[in-house]
Order: sequence, then C-alpha cells, then structure tokens
Amino acid sequence: MDGQDEAVPVWEQQLSGMWVAFKDDCQPYLEKTYQAFRQGVGDARRLVTTTDDDGSLLKLSLDFGMLSSKTAGRSTDILPIRRREAVEAAAPALAIFHIGEAAAGQHDQRTLLESWCTEPRVETVTLADGRLVQGFKELELYGAQCNGELVQVCLSTSNMGSVLMPAELDGNPDAPITDFGSDLTSPDEIDKLADEDNQQCKICLCDLEREDHCFKLLCGHAFHGECIGNWFARKRRCPACTRSYGKLYGSQPLQGIMEWHPEITELEVHPRAAQAIVLQFKFPAGTDEDGQEYIAREPWCYLPDDAAGLVLLELYKVAFRRRVMFGFGPRLRDGAFGATFNIHIKTRTHGGSVGHGYPDDAYFLRSLEELRSNGVTISDLPLQS
Ligand SMILES: [Zn+2]
Ligand SMILES: [Zn+2]
Repeated sequence: MDGQDEAVPVWEQQLSGMWVAFKDDCQPYLEKTYQAFRQGVGDARRLVTTTDDDGSLLKLSLDFGMLSSKTAGRSTDILPIRRREAVEAAAPALAIFHIGEAAAGQHDQRTLLESWCTEPRVETVTLADGRLVQGFKELELYGAQCNGELVQVCLSTSNMGSVLMPAELDGNPDAPITDFGSDLTSPDEIDKLADEDNQQCKICLCDLEREDHCFKLLCGHAFHGECIGNWFARKRRCPACTRSYGKLYGSQPLQGIMEWHPEITELEVHPRAAQAIVLQFKFPAGTDEDGQEYIAREPWCYLPDDAAGLVLLELYKVAFRRRVMFGFGPRLRDGAFGATFNIHIKTRTHGGSVGHGYPDDAYFLRSLEELRSNGVTISDLPLQS
C-alpha cells in the first residue's frame, strides 16, 4: 500500500443486494488478509476466525475478494466483500505473473503478458535479462520454469457476477461490410484482378466482369458485391483465405443470463483447487430466429477455482457475450428443443470425463481449443486496465 492509501480501510459486505459497512473488529483481519492477497503471498487463502455479536462462530476467508461466512449449525453462505474506495484500484489487470515467490518486475510482466495472449502460444519466453521461461504453453496447468523457479499466472476475477444478454452483447454483429473492404468502382480495377489471378468470385464461381458490382475485402480477395453480402450475413470470413472479419457470433438464445460465484465445497472438485467456481446459465423459453419454440433451460456448471478455471471463466464470458457458448438442439434426456452447449463445460463436480465431471486432465486444453474454433482466445480478454 502506498502513502495516499493509508486511510483506515472501510470494508463492505453485500447483504440483500446492498453494500453495508463491515463490523469494526473484523477490519484488521480483513486488511491483513487482503494485503497478503494483493501481494500474492502464499497464505492469502488462510481462514481468519472471529466471533459474531451473539458469540456464535464466524469464520472468514478472503480469497480473490470473496468472503465466505459460516455460522455454527448453518449452511455456508457466500457473500461478496469489497474495500470501499480501493475496489477499482484492486484490479489493475486481469493477470499478474509471479516468478518464484514475488510478482515479476514491470518489464517482465509485460513480456509474459504479451506472450501469454499470443496465438498460438509459444513454449519458451525470453526475458530482457536473457533468462528463459520454459513450459509456457501449459502455464495455467503446471506453471512454467525459469532457472529452477516456478512461474505462475495469478488471475483476479470479480468474486461473483453475471452477464445479462442481450444487453451485454460483445461488439456490433451488424457492422457493415464496408468496414472490411471497398467497392471496385472502375473497370480498370476489375481488369487488374485477372493479373492477380483473382478474377473468379469464389462464391458463385463465375468470373468478375467489368460491368459487375464487385467488392474487394481487405485481404485482397474480390467477389460480386451481392455474393459477399449474402455470405457475410452468415459468416464473417473471407471465403477464399478464411481471414476473419470482426467477431464470430453464434446462435445462442438471445435472452439469457450467465451467473457465477466461488463456493467452498467439500467435494474433491479438482486436485489443484481448494474451491469451485459455480456457474449457472439461465435461458427462458422463447422462439428462435426460424420461428421454432424452445424450452427454458438453466444448467449448472463447475470450474476449478485455479488459474485454469479462472482463464476458462473469463473466456466463457466472452463466448457468452458473442452467443457462441450455446447453440440449439434436442436435449439428450427427452429430445426437447432448447439451448445446448456449443462449448462444453462440466455440469458435474465428479464422475470423470465420461460423467461430464472431474477429474479430467484434458479438459482445459480441449476447452481452449473449442473456444478457439469459435473465435475466442486469450487475446480477447480485457487484460489491461
Ligand atoms: Zn459471385
Ligand atoms: Zn481473403
């Protein structure tokens, strides 16, 4: 904490949707744990214990900004907590890299961040002083290695949250085609296409003639204006070279909510995570774009609350906001038509890969691959403040 930040911290807790100040006697504990968390010290997950007004036990654990409280004899409640004024400053970036015990220096931070979101990700990263970081491809799963020190990525995430669709649709799926190329206005330009071996419209397979309305994409491939217009209405990729233009949007039900929160669970969710991130998707019944009615669906899903799980959570948010997380299809159980997973996510905490649950060592990399084929990669994440 630097000098200007030394005012007595005021903690708040969300109760019934309102933020209320936390009890004074808890604040020193919360502050200490919070600082440990901010500095990435190993014991940031420890429990801080105090008693409630009526003497019943109140256990507090601060982990990624989450407070969980457990009163004797009652079930576990998950409550969000934040420090007033510090809440924005607490999340300068999604990802912080650690080399050994300490956060990497500013320059290394930048190098590692850039390498982390480069597609495809490299196996080895060279730092400014010549040190090599090896095994970088599977950083989230096993950590990388740098001169015998463990390199890890620490991700901050909102402790609980939701994405509401269509209000939070990512970007503009209706961006006009003129953003991605231009009309060929003179017959000379169309004649020139022959020299470039580019005179055939790869959609209708007819040659582009001088009198035709032709359109050239930024990649240099030309088509009939009408052909590429109709093509772009369905997919925003060049039919000749598959370069992607703008984001890929899917057919997920337009109305929907994605919600998540961490949960301390006694189930062995994942060998490397102490708790789970629990997600619920909620789609009300409706009618799709072809006029077919679909049923309501509210599937629950589970991610490990570790680096791999947090990366997937962030990518799923992007996928949900682009409507590629789900598609439509018949439900396995009874064939009822409704939202079905386009990107697969664990719907059980146990049962292994055959039971849609954990453990499943291949899940993280497989899910990244599914996301990638739907146009969502780590480079799509909001990595800078
Ligand atoms: Zn054509
Ligand atoms: Zn092209």
